[in-house]
Amino acid sequence: MKFETKAIHAGQKPDSVTGAVVAPIVTSTTFAQPAPGKPLEYEYSRVSTPTRKALEICLAELEGGTFALAVSSGCAAMSLLCQFLKPGDVVLAEEDLYGGTLRLLKHLEKTQNVQTHFLDFSDHELVKKNLSLNPRILWLETPTNPLLKIIDIQKIQGFKKTTKTLVVVDNTFATPCLQSPLSLGADLVFHSATKYLGGHTDILGGAIVTGRKDLAEELHFFNKTFGPALSPFDSYLLLRSLKTLSLRMKAHEKNALQVARFLENHPQVQKVLYPGLKSHPQFALAKKQMSGFGGMVSFYIKGGEKRAINFLKRLKIFTLAESLGAVESLAEHPRTMTHSAFSSKGVTGELIRLSVGIEHIDDLIEDLKQSLEKQAR
Ligand SMILES: *Cc1c(COP(=O)(O)O)cnc(C)c1O
Repeated sequence: MKFETKAIHAGQKPDSVTGAVVAPIVTSTTFAQPAPGKPLEYEYSRVSTPTRKALEICLAELEGGTFALAVSSGCAAMSLLCQFLKPGDVVLAEEDLYGGTLRLLKHLEKTQNVQTHFLDFSDHELVKKNLSLNPRILWLETPTNPLLKIIDIQKIQGFKKTTKTLVVVDNTFATPCLQSPLSLGADLVFHSATKYLGGHTDILGGAIVTGRKDLAEELHFFNKTFGPALSPFDSYLLLRSLKTLSLRMKAHEKNALQVARFLENHPQVQKVLYPGLKSHPQFALAKKQMSGFGGMVSFYIKGGEKRAINFLKRLKIFTLAESLGAVESLAEHPRTMTHSAFSSKGVTGELIRLSVGIEHIDDLIEDLKQSLEKQAR
């Protein structure tokens, strides 16, 4: 089955009793057992529950895995993944990451004696050299946030020396619609489902998917023990969102490419970062690894941080807000917003990150244009 078909049907057979075509929202937290200690498919909703199960089957199929967990946020997904770590373990992480991931890994360093080394994962020699530290996890996201660097998943996973080392990929920006980390050799994929998977700025959620049975068993145990489960209502909403993921991603990409080209040719813009531009240093890799370039565009404005701030304040259709991946366009200033807690090279005062939505492209370009032109005066 192709992606679009799975998104609509996987895990969602018509209800065997009522014939309902849409997976029902089952709110019951407990399930009757025919005999003591002999539960049927479900026993208690923290462990598993029908609406979430339907979603998890769908997520697993979309990512090309065999097991998925739907949890209450992207950060909850990351916390569960950190259960694979024990004191003394080492993590190698790409240095350009979502701000909350940096916060979590730095916290583990202080409280759990888990040391994370942040590296440029596009420097393969550097990654290979650091493998002598015997890392438990190689942690990356691609495209990266906010610099939209592309990391070669297949290359990175090829460097690991044992199956004890886990390659973890944050697939939030690309979504399974554009990129399949598991098929490229990653062990675990996770998402902030709050972003493109949800797509409408009204669900806080996360997901983890794997194709490895041993990891699935451990994840099932972690979920039961730590209890981050997504609610039945949010599971229903997310299942509903997934049905249009492919349509939305196409629309995001189409708009983002035009926005990137417009900015690249604008005299007030210093540099544009978008993997779909020929000027992007990993354009060829992006083309090979992804089936589309996504909806995120970052750029450096000319003339300093004050210019960036004023540009953002003048936007009318792009909303100045954190988050990304939804139908409405958002703009933000990483240095003072999403990445304010961490100084990272490349995240300068002139950097602006756009999450290009699916409004009409003429209105989006017009909005960017009016704000940039007032700049020039
Ligand atoms: C938002 C985000 C997260 C965290 O997800 P929440 O749902 O906000 O907890 C993790 N990774 C990336 C790339 C994100 O954009």
